[in-house]
Amino acid sequence: MRVIDHIHNARETIFSFEILPPLKGQNIRNIYDTIDPLMEFKPPFVNVTYHREEVVYKRLDSGLLEQKVVRKRPGTVGICAAVQNRYKIDAVPHILCGGFSREDTENALIDLDFLGIENVLALRGDSIKGETYFVAEKNGHTYASELVGQITGMNKGIYLDEELKNNTPTNFCVGVAGYPEKHFEAPSINNDIENTIRKVEAGADYIVTQLFFDNKSYFNYVDKCRKAGITVPIIPGIKPIATKRHLSVLPHRFHVDIPDDLVKAVINCKDNAEVREVGIEWAIEQCKELKESGVPVIHFYSMGKVDNIQAIARAIF
Ligand code: FAD
Repeated sequence: MRVIDHIHNARETIFSFEILPPLKGQNIRNIYDTIDPLMEFKPPFVNVTYHREEVVYKRLDSGLLEQKVVRKRPGTVGICAAVQNRYKIDAVPHILCGGFSREDTENALIDLDFLGIENVLALRGDSIKGETYFVAEKNGHTYASELVGQITGMNKGIYLDEELKNNTPTNFCVGVAGYPEKHFEAPSINNDIENTIRKVEAGADYIVTQLFFDNKSYFNYVDKCRKAGITVPIIPGIKPIATKRHLSVLPHRFHVDIPDDLVKAVINCKDNAEVREVGIEWAIEQCKELKESGVPVIHFYSMGKVDNIQAIARAIF
């Protein structure tokens, strides 16, 4: 079933979360161990992230560095099929512009369609290590809005080969990303929202936000989007802080602000067990307020850790 239909059918806020494919060489059991403890909260769908290739350097005996291109977390499509089959819930694979030509995208979407996957989260992806700015694949998409256009085109039976006739339309529900604190490359929040409008005009059904720690930034963002004419659901993304290291990692990686009260509380913790409790309490307060405001879904970023999400969900759902 399409995410947007889950949202329309729901009587109250839906619980959802995202999982990462395990590192290459590990087992699908890792995925089940992540999902199993969260099934009691009845997630109707689960997102599965996509990780593109990375450039790594290996020092050779000669002292020279050998450059290798590796994908450390492959398996998104296989995991989606396994999740749908095992849990009878919908899987939402993330698909990227980065690393994909239009032809690759079309073929990937055909695979998803044949596997009975009806949802995708369409993203541009980031630059790979060694590139300062994102570089599109030859004959690939530069912005997520173009990717959305290709997907919604296939929903109308439009394939790249114009000579193909009487094509079966696909039925993908398309989510896209939104940034309450602005995407780091955008010159201003209003400009970023204008670019988000392009994704909605291309046919995106809903928006999932980048993680945030201050609900005010989410509420302000929703307000600005509504004033700009965006009417699709905007799903808040929540990530509980769990370690002291998160104070530097999360702002660096996700370009988000951490409120002073939370920073102080984390700094005052004697160890990461205490930080975990602080993170849970903070996220519970965020989720209570979000739920009371009537958000359609609360989406949790698991980053492979679920015990804290389980504790939060027990308090909220
Ligand atoms: P876009 O919407 O294309 O925007 C990128 C930048 O370009 C923005 O600054 C935007 O304002 C600007 N822009 C857009 N259109 C135009 C235009 N026409 N002209 C000029 N500027 C424009 N990354 C992964 O690699 N794998 C994942 O699984 C993954 N999952 C994610 C899930 C969520 C919910 C979120 C919020 C992010 C996720 N990301 C993931 C990260 C994402 O790929 C990066 O944030 C990326 O830098 C931007 O992706 P986007 O789809 O928002 O890009």
